Amino acid sequence: MKAVILEDIGKLKVTSMDIPTCGPGEVLVKLEACGICRTDLKCYTMGQRDLHLPRILGHEVAGTVAAMGENVTNLSLGDRVQVAPGIPCGTCSYCLAGFDNLCDEMQIVGFHIDGGFAEYILIPAEGVKFGVLQPIPEHLSFAEAALTEPLACSVNIQDSMNLTSEDTLLIIGAGPLGILNAQLARSRGVNRIIIAETKENRLKLAEEFPIDYIINVKEKDLQQEVLAITKGKGVDGVIPCCPGLEPFSQGINLLAKKGKMGFFSGLIGKDNLGFDLNTIHYKELTVTGGYGCSLAHNQEALRLIAEGQVQIKKMITRNLSLEEVEDGLEMIRNSSELSIVVNF
Ligand SMILES: [Zn+2]
Ligand SMILES: [Zn+2]
Repeated sequence: MKAVILEDIGKLKVTSMDIPTCGPGEVLVKLEACGICRTDLKCYTMGQRDLHLPRILGHEVAGTVAAMGENVTNLSLGDRVQVAPGIPCGTCSYCLAGFDNLCDEMQIVGFHIDGGFAEYILIPAEGVKFGVLQPIPEHLSFAEAALTEPLACSVNIQDSMNLTSEDTLLIIGAGPLGILNAQLARSRGVNRIIIAETKENRLKLAEEFPIDYIINVKEKDLQQEVLAITKGKGVDGVIPCCPGLEPFSQGINLLAKKGKMGFFSGLIGKDNLGFDLNTIHYKELTVTGGYGCSLAHNQEALRLIAEGQVQIKKMITRNLSLEEVEDGLEMIRNSSELSIVVNF
């Protein structure tokens, strides 16, 4: 099979390798679509805490069941499946509490084990048993289903923030995660959503989604705009959907008292904090963390997409072939597209 392997940081290779064979309990999935995102770019350019090299990247996976080992029940050859990327132990206290994304034994597709930038992916028996292969409703395309994962990570962070319909939410960055978070917040009834972005193409795309205020922060001062919209109060929730420390600091500074910061997009860079840590103390802020997603988050995300509450189709601005993964990473670096999907 054809596969794209990250041999070392910055060294990506299109190669040919044997199709994996199924042991007992394992399932072989033939790839149909795999999303490519900023996390893949991070793995490629600087590595990631959970990344073990060499590795086939790709954690936003959808395909069909191509082969099954002994003892696999509840699946049939040809089933259309979306792969929830986390394979946890299923028995530790985190797993039993539903926080399986925090399991110490977690194996993440595309990080600890090979992912979806290949024609086939082998799902370990523990994953099959845990239920990571989720059926894709008939009316959804593979590409739409593949983008369940980033939405699931957004479900995770918004669950931790408990926003209400009365809240004003500021999303910093109108990339794929910004747009997903805006759509998710709207589906949950948040009725005032502000998004801040610097790039023309993304500002334009943002207009197609349910966002109340789109702020071009190249031309306008974000603080002034936010204070004008909220009558000087600041926002109740902020979710930075970009990797820089500056938006993070800005987000903290723009929160109202009792405000909540959702911190799920890992920071890149070693800049100094742009806010006074005491702000959290004085304003009684809550900063909640989110890392990846649990199986339950994944299920909710897939349901929201299937119900049309979150629209994925118009987010996909570029389709690529497997050979073009490296080009895709370059597009992500330049923020020239919204969502990018590798098709098979
Ligand atoms: Zn991703
Ligand atoms: Zn566990």
